[in-house]
Amino acid sequence: MKKFRLHVLLLVLMLPTLLQGQQKPIIGLSSTSGEGSSTAVPLTYVESIIRAGGVPMVLPITHDHQLLHRMLDNIDALILTGGEDVDPLKWYGEEPLPALGGIAPERDSFDVALARLAVQRGIPLLGICRGHQVINVAFGGTLYQDIPSQVKGSEVKHRQSAPGDYGTHTIRIEQNSLLHKQIGMQSIAVNSFHHQAVKDVAPGFKVTATAVDGVVEAMEKMGSDQVYSVQFHPEVFTAQDIDTFLGIFEYLVKKAEEHAMDKYDIGITE
Ligand code: MN
Repeated sequence: MKKFRLHVLLLVLMLPTLLQGQQKPIIGLSSTSGEGSSTAVPLTYVESIIRAGGVPMVLPITHDHQLLHRMLDNIDALILTGGEDVDPLKWYGEEPLPALGGIAPERDSFDVALARLAVQRGIPLLGICRGHQVINVAFGGTLYQDIPSQVKGSEVKHRQSAPGDYGTHTIRIEQNSLLHKQIGMQSIAVNSFHHQAVKDVAPGFKVTATAVDGVVEAMEKMGSDQVYSVQFHPEVFTAQDIDTFLGIFEYLVKKAEEHAMDKYDIGITE
């Protein structure tokens, strides 16, 4: 009888949690190390995750394998954020062109490891700008080091001077792609702050959006519904309460919830 009462008490105590559903999923964010003295992530990513119903968690750069794995143990999805150019020599075997921008070798290694381990462990993954390019090289693709000097006939300004939450060039989105599902548009104006771009698409990935000059603006992993990337910056709009691209983050949060449930299911281990 006492045991029964205890069970009823526990159930009543847990009811608000049960009715609320599960807890919000944790979304890891790759970071930059600034001048070697800081770990930094633009607030726009943080705010976008919160708006989409997730809990942002910043991942500081490390090359310790155990630390890396423990970080991944504790997140339900991952966003590879924007930033520096990728080192062409190390990651796709090309000599650096004069127009290559600043690179961050420590960050490259961390981001590539994060991308590969996330996919290996079934952690949902979204790449944004540099993150989109990192995913491509992590799985065997290459990049244009500099669009103006390498993409012949490109007459699109991919480094806009307009405000960040203003779409300046159009992209065409493939039907039946994750991006199409997430934002419900076939063509839309995006913001653009890059001079590098995907060249050879990594094996196993497909292009899901392009600019009019053919530059790859979105990709996803074939045979997966949780690995995708964009060349533009949806987080700048989302953080400004503009809902056009909110679906990109809401989708990730939904996949993160599913991943968290799988993870804690009895009998299922990673
Ligand atoms: Mn662009």
